[in-house]
Amino acid sequence: MKTKERLQIPPVGMQQQAASERIHNQNEVPLGFTPEEARLEALRCLQCKNVPCIAGCPVGIDIPSFIGFIAEGNFQGAILKIKEKNVLPAVCGRVCPQEEQCQLPCTVGKILKTTEKSVSIGTLERFAADWERNSGSVSKPKIASKTGKRVAIVGGGPAGLTVAGDLIKLGHEVTVFEALHKAGGVLVYGIPEFRLPKKIVKNEVENLQSLGVEFKYNYVIGKIESIDELFQEYDSIFIGTGAGLPRFMGIEGENLLGVYSANEYLTRANLMRAFDFPNADTPILNVSRVATIGGGNVAMDSARTALRLGAEHSLIIYRRSEVEMPARNEEIEHAKDEGVEFHLLVNPIRIIGNEEGWVTGMEVIKMELGEPDASGRRRPVPIPGSEFIVDVDAVIVAIGNSPNPLVAKVTPELKVNRWGGIIVDEETGETSIKGVYAGGDIVLGAATVILAMGEGRRAAKAMHEYMMNEKTD
Ligand SMILES: Cc1cc2nc3c(=O)[nH]c(=O)nc-3n(C[C@H](O)[C@H](O)[C@H](O)COP(=O)(O)OP(=O)(O)OC[C@H]3O[C@@H](n4cnc5c(N)ncnc54)[C@H](O)[C@@H]3O)c2cc1C
Ligand code: SF4
Repeated sequence: MKTKERLQIPPVGMQQQAASERIHNQNEVPLGFTPEEARLEALRCLQCKNVPCIAGCPVGIDIPSFIGFIAEGNFQGAILKIKEKNVLPAVCGRVCPQEEQCQLPCTVGKILKTTEKSVSIGTLERFAADWERNSGSVSKPKIASKTGKRVAIVGGGPAGLTVAGDLIKLGHEVTVFEALHKAGGVLVYGIPEFRLPKKIVKNEVENLQSLGVEFKYNYVIGKIESIDELFQEYDSIFIGTGAGLPRFMGIEGENLLGVYSANEYLTRANLMRAFDFPNADTPILNVSRVATIGGGNVAMDSARTALRLGAEHSLIIYRRSEVEMPARNEEIEHAKDEGVEFHLLVNPIRIIGNEEGWVTGMEVIKMELGEPDASGRRRPVPIPGSEFIVDVDAVIVAIGNSPNPLVAKVTPELKVNRWGGIIVDEETGETSIKGVYAGGDIVLGAATVILAMGEGRRAAKAMHEYMMNEKTD
């Protein structure tokens, strides 16, 4: 097919659940491509020789090759190609910010003058991964012969799971120590079911188990065992404990009943299944007016979850304008379609409560945008005298998370920066303790799934070299 003909194929939109229906259930919102749709979308790819899309992918998937396989109808070939570089394709196809990564430099988008018309690389990745899972014959990678080396991974999020996948394939014995009762990290406790069905994460964890990775749950390193103690049993250690420490604003009323961190709110709703209370044991406040403070993906997930839990009004309170919102456009659009009310250029000053200590409202102040600050975004500046009260029954604070402090706190030799992130060698991911590596949000601060996986991949390579070259005697 000629380039001109490929460019004339209109982008294939993904079907999705109607907003009026989906706010009453937890089912996934976008429904993915059918095989016919996937092949048609794949035909839009120009198979560029200079492969700008690969440069935009943090783990370097051979994008034109896997899309070429889909166009031919060889879905098995496509998923095998993706898995050469990405161990969690069904996850990344759903939650990666492709519009800022591989799809941003896509030649088709450039020629058609909008990234929205770039080849839908993420949806095609998702299609290939779902096709494999639904076919029931998940391909198993080749496992190298046993090395006799033992690896401990602290934290079963995307970073830890990536290290586990890479090192088990290289013949090492791998144990993942996870604080919670399930592996997946934010993929299971943070990102809601309607964006990432939990069966997908479960499936990925089971695949690792079938390769021989051992998971020890409810196992908090730093409490049950220290890094030093682990080192007596293991040849190398990876710390992937994430950024699960919620930040608060430090305003009056944040300790009132009905104020949640987004982490607590989403963990209750997702991991602890509060949406199914009383069938599930975990309760969650079921009130009419819920305000979520923040403008990132976590804020959108919280506000959309509040609607699904029965809130009549779910408000986003954000101190900048929509242009500065860090959430993905897709998430903002989904939230708006579902009826989330956006209150932009307003900032909370205090949360108000009644005599019993329950939230009844929030005082906010209007903001205007000033000069750009260190983040490059225009600084929000309060407008004096513009304060007003918003009536709310619950407040979710979603203004960011910091690295989990526990392991560093009980391991004084582990060097951290002033935000609590573990300091690592940029080439290898090695920490200030020889043989101990770290990666993902515990190093980067709250970042993305694919970056956490990229860090895991880098560390796994270095850990392998460390164990095989330096510790073979
Ligand atoms: C609500 C929400 C929505 C998000 N949406 C997106 C999105 O759409 N796209 C995207 O790319 N990214 C998104 N992110 C960010 C992304 O999920 C994270 O960047 C990513 O999960 C980081 O992976 P990680 O493995 O470093 O850490 P985590 O996923 O946080 O996993 C760390 C794991 O370590 C465990 N742990 C912690 N301390 C210990 C200990 N002492 N001992 C044993 N185990 C421990 C934790 O229980 C957890 O399971 C979102 C984050 C949140 C919170
Ligand atoms: S840049 Fe776009 S068109 Fe070119 S190979 Fe990559 S996906 Fe295909």
